[in-house]
Amino acid sequence: MSYLIEELRERKTLDNQGLKTLLESDDLSLEEDLFRNAREVADEQFGREIWLRALIEWSNVCRNDCYYCGIRHSNTSLPRYSLTPEEILTCCDQAWRLGLRTFVLQGGENPSAAAALAPTVAEMRASWPDTAITLSLGELPFETYALLRRSGANRYLLRHETASPVHYARLHPAPMRLEHRLACLQELQRLGFRTGMGMMVGSPFQTTDDLIADIRLIQRFQPGMIGLGPFIPHPDTPLGQYPAGSAGQTLRLYAILRLMLPQAWIPSTTALSTLRPDGRKAGILAGANVVMPNFTPVSHRADYALYAGKSAPAVEAEENLKQLIQEIESIGYHV
Ligand code: SAM
Repeated sequence: MSYLIEELRERKTLDNQGLKTLLESDDLSLEEDLFRNAREVADEQFGREIWLRALIEWSNVCRNDCYYCGIRHSNTSLPRYSLTPEEILTCCDQAWRLGLRTFVLQGGENPSAAAALAPTVAEMRASWPDTAITLSLGELPFETYALLRRSGANRYLLRHETASPVHYARLHPAPMRLEHRLACLQELQRLGFRTGMGMMVGSPFQTTDDLIADIRLIQRFQPGMIGLGPFIPHPDTPLGQYPAGSAGQTLRLYAILRLMLPQAWIPSTTALSTLRPDGRKAGILAGANVVMPNFTPVSHRADYALYAGKSAPAVEAEENLKQLIQEIESIGYHV
């Protein structure tokens, strides 16, 4: 069945039946072949270089109540925090000194606070003109996206979460709509942000057909970045009793999407390394080309608890970075 992989690599697409086989087959040599091909394509695009992005978990205050997410509004057991502008700038300064040139500010959805971040974004842009500033702040009024873009942000990550409206409604309460999330993605792209989308793998009620719909949506949208990680339950959420997604399935999706969109930036995510200790390396070997070391102040990391056991190293950013670089080098890559 390796002709499926050849076809996918050659034509950058495959019919639904072929995708289903790649996602469901229990033939481990097929899986190995898929990962090897994805890795070769990533190597052709990026060499053996892995790009680092400094993740700063800006705030866990969120107006939404996504049924799967630990920082959902209704989770009252979580102490809430937002980093001050000074704290954000200190994180950036530390990342910059350690050689990172992309800052990623991520947080719960909080439109007024997101608009109030604009001066901080402008200060980041002025202080580090040669860096990329990525935001991941959820669905905001379009004028806020425009304001943040004018202030100097140039990338935005907004996972679509699932391409099926029925599945979307089983993961999110009524006021949230897939249609609106997709409209936000279109607007972000129109404003000139390099845009990222993606989904959780193995989220409750997800079928292989849902994943194929996700792949098709990503294929149509052609995002510059793709954020994918396994679903991991959080006990204080309505979906906390469902099983975690599979690391293997996540890796197959990295590989399939690498073969379809050779130039996309795909991080090997924290959720994957939470599920599997060697997850970060496995993600790279299945086609991922980005790693996002955590620069959130250690005192706040435990509170950005999206899911149980989130691997939030208790060590300081510098030590964490050293370990990450060693991991990357141990499989023949460099940063
Ligand atoms: N508020 C922003 C948004 O809506 O895009 C960014 C923060 S949100 C917490 C970041 C991502 O975390 C979500 O897009 C979701 O895919 C992921 N996430 C949330 N809960 C999760 C869980 N239980 N397991 C795995 N990933 C999860």
